[in-house]
Amino acid sequence: MTHTDADAVGGRLVRDIRLDFPAFASSGHDRPTAYLDSAATSQRPTAVLDAERDYLEHHLAAVHRGASAATGESTTLFEDGRADVARFVGVGDREIVWAQNATDALNMVALGIADASAGIGGRDAARFALQPGDEIVLTEAEHHANLLPWQRVAQRTGARIVPVRVDEHGVWSIDDLAAVLTERTRIVAFAEVSNVTGMIAPVAEIAEIAHRHGSFVVLDACQSVPHRPVDFAAYGVDFAAFSAHKMLGPNGIGVLYGREELLDALPPARTGGSTITKVTLEEAHFLPAPHRFEAGTQAVSQAIGLAAAVRYLEGIGMDAVAAHEEAFAARVVDGVAALPGVRIVGPQPGERRAGLVSVSVDGVHAHDVGQFLDEAGIVVRVGHHCAQPLHRALGITATTRASAHVYTTADEADRFVSTLGEVRGFFGLAREAS
Ligand code: PMP
Repeated sequence: MTHTDADAVGGRLVRDIRLDFPAFASSGHDRPTAYLDSAATSQRPTAVLDAERDYLEHHLAAVHRGASAATGESTTLFEDGRADVARFVGVGDREIVWAQNATDALNMVALGIADASAGIGGRDAARFALQPGDEIVLTEAEHHANLLPWQRVAQRTGARIVPVRVDEHGVWSIDDLAAVLTERTRIVAFAEVSNVTGMIAPVAEIAEIAHRHGSFVVLDACQSVPHRPVDFAAYGVDFAAFSAHKMLGPNGIGVLYGREELLDALPPARTGGSTITKVTLEEAHFLPAPHRFEAGTQAVSQAIGLAAAVRYLEGIGMDAVAAHEEAFAARVVDGVAALPGVRIVGPQPGERRAGLVSVSVDGVHAHDVGQFLDEAGIVVRVGHHCAQPLHRALGITATTRASAHVYTTADEADRFVSTLGEVRGFFGLAREAS
């Protein structure tokens, strides 16, 4: 393996970073598997696995319940984890709500808004109420997690989904979005980084114009928080969602961010134990955020593992992580651009994109491409990536995506490109590509 600039992240060599990840321990083969599917789920460093194990072995007790010293210690670890996550995204501790994953977090916002529209949550929640004919602006590139919950809101309230259309490469601009905003726009929801195109949206600028129209701004930060520096407070968004398992953390936990005054007014989508101040047989009064949203027993060891992931990423530095992954994407895009019959989805060569690249190979289904790559020891994601409207707009049913994280090497980018270059030849489509 040759080492180039692309093989260092900040001050550390990728080769050394890989030693932090048990998944990359020597497999005994000359050529280890190239794991290029971090946008789906990332590998976890020992620091995360150890943090969870240490909690489970030495500190496990209920949180926010009872008066024992053990409970107090467990609660402190749990809440310290929340503080780590809050710092990582530039917000206050009370603005971080634990969810199961990003999908769950986005549903919490949408269902809260649907409830508010039905009169639940009283006067405080009335600011969220949608009327028939109100407009929810979404881009055509959204992941289903940031589309289906809004369809449900539209069904319940009579609001309308207004799409921001993508161009022939699957990207959209702030002007495209601004053009569909009206005085009826109540919600603008979009991903900071598309999980298919790798396009990076100008979040702060969009939040500003959406707010000028009196709209709430909901950010799907699932592909940005794990890979680049973000600051939700500086962005000025109202809500944001992300998942731990894409940022070197555990499964089973995600985050909903909301501005404090909004979270305190949004009806909790799920109700039950640990969310209340007073309960009678007829009604309940809810705690302020974040606890009003955290019904039932929480994913405590996962929260502690996520906090360890955050500290690990902070140790490397998110600017360095973003630069490393953008270099990966540029290397892949430049290589793929030279391959006949392979179409690059999203920003084109020379244009800025996050660390993932989706391609479509003329005449070969993405599943066949994926299998060919798999046989060469390269793990990618194939399919519609939970973004059917985007693929429909592009006139294709599926793409093949390679994505990076801190542990991805330049050699892996090159292996992806060279193996992709053999696909059409293998399927008898182009001799020059074999
Ligand atoms: N949004 C985007 C942009 C994503 O990439 C994903 C995961 N593929 C999600 C939302 C949903 O994340 P999760 O499945 O962890 O809830």
